[in-house]
Parts: sequence; C-alpha cells; structure tokens
Amino acid sequence: MALINEHFLKLTRSYLFSDIAKKVNTFRVTHPRQDIIRLGIGDVTRPLPKTCIEAMHKAVEELANKDTFRGYGPEQGYDFLIDAILKNDFAPRGIHLSASEIFVNDGAKSDTGNIGDILRHDNSVGVTDPIYPVYIDSNVMCGRAGVLEEETGKWSNVTYMPCTSENNFTPEIPDKRIDIIYLCYPNNPTGTTLTKPELKKWVDYALANDTLILFDAAYEAYIQEEGVPHSIYEIRGAKKCAIEFRSFSKTAGFTGVRCGYTVVPKELTAATLKGERIPLNKLWNRRQCTKFNGTSYITQRAAEAIYSPEGKEQIKETIQYYMTNARIMKEGLEATGLNVYGGVNAPYLWVKTPKGISSWRFFEQMLYEANIVGTPGVGFGPSGEGYIRLTAFGDRNDCIKAMKRIKNWL
Ligand code: PLP
Repeated sequence: MALINEHFLKLTRSYLFSDIAKKVNTFRVTHPRQDIIRLGIGDVTRPLPKTCIEAMHKAVEELANKDTFRGYGPEQGYDFLIDAILKNDFAPRGIHLSASEIFVNDGAKSDTGNIGDILRHDNSVGVTDPIYPVYIDSNVMCGRAGVLEEETGKWSNVTYMPCTSENNFTPEIPDKRIDIIYLCYPNNPTGTTLTKPELKKWVDYALANDTLILFDAAYEAYIQEEGVPHSIYEIRGAKKCAIEFRSFSKTAGFTGVRCGYTVVPKELTAATLKGERIPLNKLWNRRQCTKFNGTSYITQRAAEAIYSPEGKEQIKETIQYYMTNARIMKEGLEATGLNVYGGVNAPYLWVKTPKGISSWRFFEQMLYEANIVGTPGVGFGPSGEGYIRLTAFGDRNDCIKAMKRIKNWL
C-alpha cells in the first residue's frame, strides 16, 4: 500500500483564485448582461516584446536544422543568458556574482516552492503578512508549517509579521530568532517597498541570528523611485544570508512563456544538525541536476533578448503602460475617499475597505454593485483582512472605466 504525504491534507480547502472564479461565475450566470471588469488576478495582458518574438522564431529555426539543433541544455541555464543577467541585472548595481551562482528556471513560483527541498523540515519559518500564498503552502506540504490554528488562520510553526497601514507596511524585526524568513519586495499583494536602510535591518538581523532570507524580487522591474533596492545583494553581507528569486513574468510578459532565475551565492551556508556548515549553492545545484532538466532553449533565447537595447526599450514601454494604469487607478480611488497603498513601485494597489467592512464583503459588493472583480486581501493572510487588492495589469480603457464606476458607486 502506498501511503500519501498527509501534510497535503492540511492545506486549506481551496485556492483563493478558484473561490473568486466561482463567485464571479455565479454572478455571470445570474447577471448575463453585465459587463465585468477584472482587476483581480495578477496576470499580464500586453503582448511579448517584439524582440523576444524574433529571438524565439530564430531559435525555432535553429532547432529545425541538423547543424544548429540543441537537445538537453545545462540544468543551470545557458551561458548566454546567465552572462546577460550578470552584466545587466547585477554589475551596474555594483553586485558581482559568478555564473555558477545563477540558476535559470521556469519561473519564480517553482523555485520559491522548491527551495524547501534543501532545508530541514523542522526549521522555523517567518513571513510578512499578508503574503504570496506559495511560501506558506509549500511549507505546509512538507510539514514545516506545523498545524493550522483555526481561530487565527495561522500555522503553528510560522511567525507572522503583520504589514498594515498602522505600521506603514514595514514589518517589525522579530524579537526572537527564526531560521528562514521570506521577504518579497516590491510586495505582492500590498504593492509596498522597503528602503535600503529598512532592508539592511533585515540583513543585519539575519547575519546576527544565522537566519536564511528567501528574497522574492519578482516585481523588481516596476521600481520607479530612487532609494528602493532592486536586489537584496545591494546590502552588504546579504550574500552570506540570502537567496534571491527573479522572474521574467512581470518584467517582460513571460507568464505564459515561463522563465526566471534564482541566485544562490557561494558564500551562503547553512548547518547540519552537528553544526557543519554546508554551501547551499552546492545543495541547490545537486537538487536541480536531479529534478530539473533546464528551461527550453527557445525560452532562454527570448529571455536573453530582453537585455538587448531594443528589448530594454520595449519592456520599459510595457511597464510604463501598467504603471500609468496604476497611477490612474490610485488617483481615481483616492478621489473617492478610499485609502490606497502601493501602486508607485509595483503594479498592485492595496485598498482599505471603507467602514471596516470585511475583504470578502467588499469584494462581493464591488462585484454586484460596480461589476468589478478585485482580490479579497484576507486571501493573502490574516493581516490582509479589511483590504482588497487591485492590479494594474489590465487594459487602459478598462482601468478608466472601472474608476468611473467606483466613483459613481461610492
Ligand atoms: N513571486 C511573487 C511574489 C508573485 O506574485 C508571483 C506571481 O504572481 C510569482 C513569484 C511567480 O512568478 P512566476 O510567473 O515567475 O512563476
């Protein structure tokens, strides 16, 4: 008899976005003539940059020819992409990494979930709250999260660091030591960022407490303001305590193409039970070589094209399109008297529900009365209660129309 991994049974009933989809479907069936505007799910809508399309076509032609055909590539990614990453994403910021510290993947979701493979099941975990659900669910799956406390909606082995308007979405440094801490900046779902001095406090905490920081920088390309760190390695000492996850999904519209990368510095180590220090780069490399066969050649050529002069221009244009949406939405929502956070260095707007109504109640009111779909904040964690997330990834006209509707509605 095969036994299952029973930790999977602990996962909460259903994924947030399927709950939302069900509610939206019910509305559609009962109100077939209403025009719904979706400002909920965090998927991009603009097409791929032209230069990426051209690079993919060229790569397909290479694969069609016996002399240029390629089969399995390196598990860690092709040198041409890793070189482009090092030269463009890190060197200009004074960060010097070697090629073997970069692991190209099929997107940040896989690696933020898979990284737990190389870490013991009984490490303590800390998350900012609210947060991208993958961090917690992937820890639940291997038993690391402990048990769910029904009353609070929190897991017993997870420390939640609230980020709310009361603390200006700046999590407080824990007063105890935690083995693994997830940080995501610019943040999904709140759209807020940390300054360099604020991020430095986390690196200092990690170095002092022998904590591993898992830093998700999937929205780095959306940073508009000076002084907001694009990489945790801008902070001295971070190579000794942090892994960084990057993604081309939101940077270049790769949500369907699938490519990102993980940085595991050579200096970073963690301990065995006996106290021996082991480089995590070595462990992650071993894990990848066994369980991952590399990102497709066509995809990596497309990712490389992002770093060409035309590629840089084209992705900038698309990001500006979304960030203009964000500005229109922020101004529109604020004009109605709502308190709105984020939307300046991230494509997410985090809106406080009026009069203390719950996230789900506000979600339903907005759906039924304004025909707009958002994402209930509580779906991202207990501290998300009383907020709703709107995304700027939609069509410009829809954003403008949605703001008019909200103004009339409220
Ligand atoms: N990290 C965060 C914070 C995200 O919001 C997302 C996607 O929404 C991801 C990672 C996953 O990105 P990818 O498409 O690269 O898997």
